Amino acid sequence: MKIGIIGAGQLGRMLALAGTPLGQDFVFLDPATDACAAALGEHLCAGYDDREQLRRLAEDVDVVTYEFENVPAETVDFLAQYVPVYPNAESLRIARDRWFEKSMFQELDIPTPAFADVLSQAELESAVQLIGLPAVLKTRTMGYDGKGQKVLRQPQDVADAFAELGCVPCILEGFVPFTGEVSLIAVRGRDGDTRFYPLVHNTHKDGILRLSVASNAHPLQAQAENYALRVLDKLNYVGVLAFEFFEIDGGLKANEIAPRVHNSGHWTIEGAECSQFENHLRAIAGLPLGSTAKVGQSAMINFIGEVPAISKLAAIADCHPHHYGKAFKPGRKVGHATVRCADSASLQSRIAEVQALTD
Ligand code: AMP
Repeated sequence: MKIGIIGAGQLGRMLALAGTPLGQDFVFLDPATDACAAALGEHLCAGYDDREQLRRLAEDVDVVTYEFENVPAETVDFLAQYVPVYPNAESLRIARDRWFEKSMFQELDIPTPAFADVLSQAELESAVQLIGLPAVLKTRTMGYDGKGQKVLRQPQDVADAFAELGCVPCILEGFVPFTGEVSLIAVRGRDGDTRFYPLVHNTHKDGILRLSVASNAHPLQAQAENYALRVLDKLNYVGVLAFEFFEIDGGLKANEIAPRVHNSGHWTIEGAECSQFENHLRAIAGLPLGSTAKVGQSAMINFIGEVPAISKLAAIADCHPHHYGKAFKPGRKVGHATVRCADSASLQSRIAEVQALTD
């Protein structure tokens, strides 16, 4: 089977690494000449709105997916005329826009921070009256890794905030004094079969994910699955969906969903029976899903800006390095390592050994 992927970054690369043993071939469409997945398949080096190349992609592959949610909705609509695209266009439309996303959570009775639509500075000021401070102003679309958002703590932070984010449609969210952040990686097949990986505890720094630790029998697992199931069924979703939550007062508040494989699921390559990448491909290809059961105790440490020497990572027992083959640049995700151990105590010491190489 031939799979088309919009985007050829590290997620596309790890999808191709997972799909090759399934006998799948890959065609990537990405405007970057140095896209890091290109080595693993054919690379159509073209813009996401290049109709001629999109048509060529659609005619060449059996199914199309995407590795990031900022794909223009028109791109997916155009491709869907010729070839199945998973997750479907409606899932993308909702997941790429924080207003649609949070409105859907509300409609499905999934707890989420207080929020308001903000289309001007005047609307921001009314929203602050309603929601109070502190609050977080976020662009509705195109935000990632903490970009396109600003925490408003004092009344003076409000004055130029709308302009600071570029005078684009935004939402204002109540600031959640969370005790932790967790994510749930879910997968739903074409036949509706749905599976979930164990909840993952996530730690961010400067808005970028640094550490993900897969949990053991998390008390909020069933609650998270229940919320995710409402979304998956509502969207008639096919593929992997990541659901990010804040933990607060012993419960969950939904932050956002990502209609794709997710950084907080990278540990599943070594830490689960079937990885999020293989399961995404199984789902979109109409194959039976693989087991999401955990194998041992796992954590993932992101490498931001540069990857430590592979020789040093390889010298750490239970450590599995992943170098994405991208140019090193401050703030850029360029690799990760998964540590997988037999027990939680050794996991903590292995995490510390890897982190010592990143300081
Ligand atoms: P996001 O892009 O929405 O995932 O936000 C990036 C990070 O900012 C989150 O992982 C949180 O650490 C923080 N954050 C986002 N929204 C809120 C909020 N409403 N309250 C508190 N922290 C937030």
